[in-house]
Amino acid sequence: MNTKEIIKKTDKYLLGTYKRFPVVFEKGRGSWLTDSDGNKYLDYVGGIAVNSLGHGNTGIKKAVQTQSAKFSHISNLYYYESTAELAELVVKNTFPSRVFFCNSGAEANEGAIKFARKYSYSKFGKGRNLILSLNGSFHGRLYGSLAATGQKALREGFGPFPGGFKHIPPNDEAALEKALSEKVCAIIAEPILAEGGVIPLRKDYAKKLRELCNKNDVLLIMDEVQTGLGRTGDLFGYVGLGIKPDIVSMAKPLGGGLPLGAVQVSSSVAKHISAGDHGSTFGGNPVSCAAGVSAFNQVLEIIKSGRAEEVSGYLEKKLVEIVDASSKVTDLSGRGFIWGLKYNGDPAGVIKKCMDEGLLIYKAGKDIVRILPPLNTTRSEINKACSILKKVL
Ligand SMILES: *Cc1c(COP(=O)(O)O)cnc(C)c1O
Repeated sequence: MNTKEIIKKTDKYLLGTYKRFPVVFEKGRGSWLTDSDGNKYLDYVGGIAVNSLGHGNTGIKKAVQTQSAKFSHISNLYYYESTAELAELVVKNTFPSRVFFCNSGAEANEGAIKFARKYSYSKFGKGRNLILSLNGSFHGRLYGSLAATGQKALREGFGPFPGGFKHIPPNDEAALEKALSEKVCAIIAEPILAEGGVIPLRKDYAKKLRELCNKNDVLLIMDEVQTGLGRTGDLFGYVGLGIKPDIVSMAKPLGGGLPLGAVQVSSSVAKHISAGDHGSTFGGNPVSCAAGVSAFNQVLEIIKSGRAEEVSGYLEKKLVEIVDASSKVTDLSGRGFIWGLKYNGDPAGVIKKCMDEGLLIYKAGKDIVRILPPLNTTRSEINKACSILKKVL
């Protein structure tokens, strides 16, 4: 199929849930993508924070080849190596806990919601099932995760939604204290509200959140679907906030580019979950987990070697220069490898112009230009991206 045919058939046969940029990509290598006309683009979208190691990663490719030559799927009726290995990596590098594997971020949050409610039910009985979440948050497109999502517009026309969710403004201690009734079993929050506009939780707010959760035996769920696995420069976003959650949902980069999600629950929550409580046919797919093991080890190495800190520090410095130089950019937010430039205007034009110049970036919220480079991007790629950004902005 040629470029025109691919676009035409996609628009004709796929359900119109996505507004796509009119480009067909043919291959990727590292931080770069090549389109069907041979044009190269520096990919600072990374499949929406999925490709933390760029494209065509050798380790991931080998892991996928090796596992798929053995088998691609056998279900969770039996044991196999790659889930055990990936779960061990997650637990040993974080806190005493257990892992449940699923396939996506929304699914991970559905699991987190179920496990939190089950914990409360088995400890306190019926009626203690309310989950607090933050205005502007994004937790996914399924019914539970969409009910938790703090963006009303995304629910328009799809009701009724499951009950038991209440939204409060982020970084507001007073609102938090007021909302904490004896009905509340959990609070779900992103360390940085990513889709909502790259809005970090304040450290003192996070500390208060943890304190209040401890005091009331309310579970703290961190949605690390976008911020987890190195995106913030730390292994997880909560590390930078100086707190430890009870439940962590993860997905986007977890499978090294293959679909994979996970819910991690602390040992004390895990005690209340038993066989039959939850499940997923594809959850913890052997090939996805094998890719995930390779990706996890590589990300760990980038963090432990100090490379993540060094490269993201350089990126931050270059972005600060852009903010200083442009009268249209009013603020910079984020950490590590997730950044938002607040743009005085519609970011869609900026994104389009950057694309014409060979740089892929994306938006967040309504006026934020979001940058999500791979963790193994180089200084020269950062220079290239920032010179394009500077020119466009
Ligand atoms: C992307 C995202 C989700 C949803 O993940 P899907 O894999 O698209 O279901 C949930 N939470 C956060 C924070 C996300 O960024």
